[in-house]
Amino acid sequence: MLKTDYLIIGSGIAGLSTALQLKDQGKITVITRGELKQANTYWAQGGIAAVMTKEDRFVKHINDTLDAGAGHGDRDAIRHLVEGAPKAIRFLESIGVKFKKEPALEGGHSVARIWRTTDFTGQDILNQLIKAVQKAKNIEVKDHVDAVELIVKNDRCNGAYVRVQDQEELHPIYAKRTVLATGGLGQLYAKTSNTKAAAGDGIALAAKAGLEPTALEFIQFHPTALNHDDKGRYFLLSETLRGFGAKIVNVEGKSFLDEYDSRAELAPRDIVTRAVNFELANGAVYLDMRHLNGKEVKKRFPNIYKRLKQYGLDLTNDLIPITPVAHFSCGGVPTDLKGTTKLPGLSAVGEVAYTKVHGANRLASNALLEAVVFAESIVKEIIRQKETGAEAEITEVDPSEIPKVVIESLPQVKAYAKRIGQIMWERVGIVRSEEGLKKALKEISEIPARDYRIQNRQIVCYKLIQACLHRPLSLGCHYIASDLD
Ligand SMILES: Cc1cc2nc3c(=O)[nH]c(=O)nc-3n(C[C@H](O)[C@H](O)[C@H](O)COP(=O)(O)OP(=O)(O)OC[C@H]3O[C@@H](n4cnc5c(N)ncnc54)[C@H](O)[C@@H]3O)c2cc1C
Repeated sequence: MLKTDYLIIGSGIAGLSTALQLKDQGKITVITRGELKQANTYWAQGGIAAVMTKEDRFVKHINDTLDAGAGHGDRDAIRHLVEGAPKAIRFLESIGVKFKKEPALEGGHSVARIWRTTDFTGQDILNQLIKAVQKAKNIEVKDHVDAVELIVKNDRCNGAYVRVQDQEELHPIYAKRTVLATGGLGQLYAKTSNTKAAAGDGIALAAKAGLEPTALEFIQFHPTALNHDDKGRYFLLSETLRGFGAKIVNVEGKSFLDEYDSRAELAPRDIVTRAVNFELANGAVYLDMRHLNGKEVKKRFPNIYKRLKQYGLDLTNDLIPITPVAHFSCGGVPTDLKGTTKLPGLSAVGEVAYTKVHGANRLASNALLEAVVFAESIVKEIIRQKETGAEAEITEVDPSEIPKVVIESLPQVKAYAKRIGQIMWERVGIVRSEEGLKKALKEISEIPARDYRIQNRQIVCYKLIQACLHRPLSLGCHYIASDLD
């Protein structure tokens, strides 16, 4: 049994930013299910959005975010996000992240405001966060520890039941405040840009504790991943490539995006994704940078260039075959602007949280930003509670109350997860229909969910499909095919 002041579940930008900003407030325990770097943050390429130049204004970033989200985001939450951005950048710089002097442009942004280090900005950010966390005295990090359930007692969250890798039993970790920072759910889909860890666990944990997830129907599919399954992940080809001038062409080598939207390559992701998806029905679709200065392309995107070389492709000379992939969950566990959930003692931050900033579709490079800004909000609230003596005491459970879980063999779990992924991709993917969604519910319910990992996936899939069924009209990245299509 372990007792801590603050338990943070997840070691991506959301979890580690929270831990670092909390470091003077007490004992912090960060748990993470795999290696420390197994997080979507590590794979973020484009960068982080912030209004930091003379020609830019907060109101422009707010309007761009609202527009990308199909008007479904909440203006107050977006203002909180956008106005917190310069401080978020300064926080990252303070731990050693070195952003380039000039911001980049990405789809949906009316002004260049994407701050990047290289074309693998997420890696640079996560590396610095990890270094800073490892130096901090009060922060203990435990890897290969899976949060399985929240400890709910006396109507509040008192920590989490965890499973240490390869063990059969669960153990409680008690905390005055627990922070869910478990990231997204892309791994519920057969094709995804997300890491293996991103299976929607935080949403399942919260749902099992009685918190209803919100806006799960808004799954963002990214239009340009390399069309190659690399051990369960698809390598992303960042939006900044299109910001730099890359074209998307069909099997005949022709550009087609302007037939779908006047902004063409720089239209918001949902529009580009659907266009690519429709064109794929006629044959392969490619990202094309051959018309651009090859030296400049290599200089600007050295890591993407190198990575594609490993797949036998030259970004400057070859057509790069692409596919859309499940990329980001706009919905999640609902929180207020302080990152607090309706369950006392529980906060949520980063991709797992639903803060209302993304609306029906996320604007590029607002996700890393959301994680840092709301981490700060959570910390502020914790400090306020501490100072006003409002921090609750921990209630422990009787050992007999510790839940027992079924653990099946890894190949079996993988096989069930694969089947779920196929169903979700086919029936709950880029284009949905009521009939398909209902079939998906049935098919997923037929998969034996004995193991807790499959149970969690099933819970999140049910919630997600039900959210889709409750929204019969298309909005943002939730697209329902009508008879007219
Ligand atoms: C390829 C790619 C490129 C992207 N590019 C950008 C970009 O340029 N700009 C941008 O703003 N956003 C981008 N995004 C989105 C952004 O990276 C993520 O939304 C963001 O990193 C999420 O941060 P997080 O800390 O919430 O989650 P993550 O970074 O995914 O971290 C989640 C953590 O929780 C852990 N975890 C999960 N379940 C459990 C459990 N049950 N128990 C214990 N630990 C658990 C995981 O192991 C992981 O450590 C990109 C995403 C991808 C996949």
